[in-house]
Amino acid sequence: MPLTLHLFIHFALAALIGYYFGRRFNHIWLGLILGIIGGFLIDLDHVLEYFLFYGLHFNFTYFIESRQFLLTDKIRLFFHAWEYFPVLLLIAWLGRRQQILKMVFLTLAFAGLIHLITDVVINGYSLPYYSIAYRAQHHFSAPELLSPADYQQNLDYKQELGI
Ligand SMILES: [Zn+2]
Repeated sequence: MPLTLHLFIHFALAALIGYYFGRRFNHIWLGLILGIIGGFLIDLDHVLEYFLFYGLHFNFTYFIESRQFLLTDKIRLFFHAWEYFPVLLLIAWLGRRQQILKMVFLTLAFAGLIHLITDVVINGYSLPYYSIAYRAQHHFSAPELLSPADYQQNLDYKQELGI
């Protein structure tokens, strides 16, 4: 699937969830913004990963080629984790007397969850792949986390890029 379509699906689902919670709590715009943060902007951890490796020298081509992942052989993806879902739900429950708090954390929780499910379906990764505890146990190491076939694809791609 082309990356633009993948991103469009994330965006559309994020907006939909945001709209749903926005309507339910009578703050449609806030709902949309939160849905987009939780369900779309969580992919900014790819950018974070880039800066962790390259420092502040941004090169758009390198970024699009995902060189940061290829060169470190690491898959950290700090915002991609099932673990946030129960934590956000718990915070929503603790803040349940304040409608806005409840709305903020419920929207973030479900927008993020749907994003991860979408990634699992589209990318074909296993469920544990999106657990940060699981990735940490495997030292965030790409050869440990990816299937041999997927990792081989990385190696082929690196060769193609000459890096
Ligand atoms: Zn993602």
